[in-house]
Amino acid sequence: MLVDSFGRVATDLRVSLTDRCNLRCAYCMPPEGLDWLPKPDLLTAEEIVRLVAIGVERLGITEVRYTGGEPLLRRELVEIVAAAARLAPRPQVSLTTNGIGLARLAAPLAEAGLDRVNVSLDTLDPDVFVRLAHRDRLRDVLDGLAAAERAGLTPVKINAVLMRGINEHEAVPLLRFSLDHGYELRFIEQMPLDAQHGWRRENMITADEILGLLKGSFDLTEDDPRHRGSAPAELFLVNGGPARVGVIGSVTRPFCGSCDRVRLTADGQIRNCLFATEESDLRTALRSGASDEDLAARWVAAVRGKKPGHGIDDPSFLQPSRPMSAIGG
Ligand code: SAM
Repeated sequence: MLVDSFGRVATDLRVSLTDRCNLRCAYCMPPEGLDWLPKPDLLTAEEIVRLVAIGVERLGITEVRYTGGEPLLRRELVEIVAAAARLAPRPQVSLTTNGIGLARLAAPLAEAGLDRVNVSLDTLDPDVFVRLAHRDRLRDVLDGLAAAERAGLTPVKINAVLMRGINEHEAVPLLRFSLDHGYELRFIEQMPLDAQHGWRRENMITADEILGLLKGSFDLTEDDPRHRGSAPAELFLVNGGPARVGVIGSVTRPFCGSCDRVRLTADGQIRNCLFATEESDLRTALRSGASDEDLAARWVAAVRGKKPGHGIDDPSFLQPSRPMSAIGG
């Protein structure tokens, strides 16, 4: 089992398949993009499949979430998903994506065993989309969402980040859109994980503000906390339910005490926290002929050292050197 020194057990594995992305969301990276990882540094599909199998078969991982960068850009995605879905015990297999390309891939991914998707959608306005993501791709994202629903990758969840002065006026329209289509919306507080280091606490739209914006138009009641489990989103029933909306207050309402996540980066590093400043290198060991047992032992040691919290409020807080796109959100 992957247990840290505070007794938390990691069962939810986030696997980044690439650090590349076809959007340039302002809270993540600069408009000109980043220097991507060199190809030889990336784990091959076989290496990813082997590490995921070790996580599931030996270390108690029960959910595998592929992410990035943009995971739909990884050519072997369907095979990687299929390999995870064949493992025993069968993990939940999900994907976090910006949805571009999902119109074509949703059906093959569902066929391969993908259980569900989270699609990022911060705006319904094509002009705001271009301003925020520096690409004119809103139509592709909406087509991808519809295809995911048709393919049965449900419940389709939407992740939205609100930025002051850009899309904060869209909290209500985004929730209306999600209710109309049967998607589950989660707002995520903007975190200090952008490559430009432009995050400022005073600019961040807080969970309280998001709830205030929504409460002007919807009746929100706190959902039974048992539905939340170790999930980061605080859930609210909308207009009495059954539809829900989630708010992930990563900064102002941290949930580190119940965190059950561990991350594998596209270049084979284990990160025990989004905000970790240290990583454990499995790729070098793997490429030097390490056995599954040895890799599992390194992974266990990597999780044991997890800190109690992300420490954003500590005066000594340091933003990790990797941005979100290179960690795997
Ligand atoms: N490209 C995929 C996508 O767009 O969903 C997967 C990777 S992306 C890094 C995963 C999630 O992280 C997205 O929902 C995105 O909005 C969120 N994200 C990225 N940077 C963030 C930040 N600084 N604060 C909060 N969420 C962020």
